[in-house]
Amino acid sequence: MEPAVPSIRRLSQSLINKIAAGEVIERPASVVKELMENAVDASASRIDVAVASGGAEMVRVVDDGCGIAADELPLAVASHATNKLAEADDLFRVATLGFRGEALASIAEISRLTVRSRSAEDQSGAELEVVGGKPSEVVPAGCPVGTALEVRNLFFNTPVRRKFLRTTGTEFGHVSEAFTRIALAAPRVHFTLRHNDREVFELPVSDGWLERIARFFGRELAGDLIWVESAEGPVRISGYVARPSHSRSNNRMQYFFLNGRHIRDRALQHALGEAYRGLLMTGRYPIAFMMLEMPPETVDVNVHPTKLEVRFQDSGRLYSQLLSTLRGKFLTTDLTAHVKPPGEDDPSGGHDQARTTQLRQELVDWAKGEVASWDRPGHAGPEPAARGAFGSGESRRPLELARLDRSWTRPGDATEEQPGGAVEAFSQQPAARPAPALQVHNRYLVVETQQGVTIIDQHALHERILYEQLRARVTSGAIETQNLLAPEPVDLSTAEAAAALQQRELLAQLGIKIEPFGGDTVLVTGYPAMLANVKPVELLRELLDKLLEGSRAPDRGDLLDELLHTIACKAAIKAGDRLTPEEIAALLEQRHLVDDPHHCPHGRPAALVFTREELDRQFKRV
Ligand code: ADP
Ligand code: MG
Repeated sequence: MEPAVPSIRRLSQSLINKIAAGEVIERPASVVKELMENAVDASASRIDVAVASGGAEMVRVVDDGCGIAADELPLAVASHATNKLAEADDLFRVATLGFRGEALASIAEISRLTVRSRSAEDQSGAELEVVGGKPSEVVPAGCPVGTALEVRNLFFNTPVRRKFLRTTGTEFGHVSEAFTRIALAAPRVHFTLRHNDREVFELPVSDGWLERIARFFGRELAGDLIWVESAEGPVRISGYVARPSHSRSNNRMQYFFLNGRHIRDRALQHALGEAYRGLLMTGRYPIAFMMLEMPPETVDVNVHPTKLEVRFQDSGRLYSQLLSTLRGKFLTTDLTAHVKPPGEDDPSGGHDQARTTQLRQELVDWAKGEVASWDRPGHAGPEPAARGAFGSGESRRPLELARLDRSWTRPGDATEEQPGGAVEAFSQQPAARPAPALQVHNRYLVVETQQGVTIIDQHALHERILYEQLRARVTSGAIETQNLLAPEPVDLSTAEAAAALQQRELLAQLGIKIEPFGGDTVLVTGYPAMLANVKPVELLRELLDKLLEGSRAPDRGDLLDELLHTIACKAAIKAGDRLTPEEIAALLEQRHLVDDPHHCPHGRPAALVFTREELDRQFKRV
């Protein structure tokens, strides 16, 4: 018997829409993106977004844009219907966010969608409901000019898709990111975002871009951004990049907007990384908000289902323009972390709030300086508020290492240690003590051993020691938290703040105590005593970066372990730190106490051993 040849059939429109929906609508955040884009395309001046249960239950976007005429409502939700393209050539000069005319049709196919709208010419509005792709009659409805679109029960008729949805928190994180991308690109539009009736963002119309950036990412970052711009022919690049004292462990804080549309582009990200080469540690990524403007016909936006990626006619030129713009700017800018002179106005115009934040910061710095000076009678006066961003300016307090090591070698002593007592005694040993090892290039320690010579990576060894020490303390619940005399406020992004509060317990286990402080600010109220040389703000950001990395929810033990590694890495002395003979001695003393002294927690070797025999052989003595 011949196998039956499957016959070719035309797919039903409903199936076509479902297939299209699979490409465009991946999760609730995709709905938020498409609806918001439509509202922006309709020239709205205010756009209100509300979602329930991360968007899986409900997404509602209300705008005051041009609206849709009653008789056109069925067309708006039909596939391949758009008011944005008229002829084929238009596809190559797209000036709107949407143009394919398939978003509403796709969404309507896999949800219960209600659209209510009124155009400026009409006296009253109209409403249309579509359930699983089946539209009802258009009925009159009272409403203001503009459009309200509500999408309920997303994926109700595509159960497989529904199963792929993550936790409410994760889905909302994506919604928040989609919202951020669109609201960042349109500072002249008033946006709001609510989740389960809680206000998440309220973004009034802002004059400058900086104000909008500050609303999302905090005034601290906004105050440390550098304006860059350049124009080459019709191509204009402008925007803000952060000083190297701000960086992230991933590239998610690199925002590129092309003619008002958020895009991702590997080449541009690469150019950004190149511009910061040598300014950031490996594994750190710069922060940037860049706008690219060019004639629409020089770029193809129709190459990616969600239009996230585009194809530039001359991407090589754009790459070099971005790179040279940034390099040029960096050459003429003092990039070390700067402290704003008192009274200097926040350029974004948020005078009062910026001033309050600054005063708060000054108070905190002052208080910390006071506390530090109680600890060390020899040191009078407060610490400088900010230290150099990297290398040279950094004034690492040399005593910290000694203190750490002390309390670790004899954990029982911790309570006997009066403020400064043991530490001072230790540091007052004659400084003439010879170093027990040779420090080379401020990063390796060369030690003569019985067997031969060992070369130690100072950062890797210290990291390993700290990691073991922290782990032992955390697992036995003995980590010592010091309540901060002046709790430290930290401005975070919404996603970071949510993660911080959600993982409050985990952070407490690590000795970091936080409290909500309104908006996206959290207050660090307690901090591990042994991490005195790492700024709480920096460490918290680092840990939140880790927590937000990947949406998987790993096993709690793994997560804790990962955070311990992060802390150890951050707190350890760095390659490039010059060590005193005492510090070298303290490091070496603890060497054998570590389980696996030959590897740092990342798995890189911490030490290389050359036996005498090997050296003899190499020098052809034997
Ligand atoms: P596209 O945005 O690619 O045109 P959509 O499916 O997203 O396709 O929208 C279809 C059409 O519905 C749009 O072209 C527009 O005419 C109309 N429309 C959708 N949302 C709105 C809105 N918020 N305000 C005014 N018109 C809208
Ligand atoms: Mg659209």
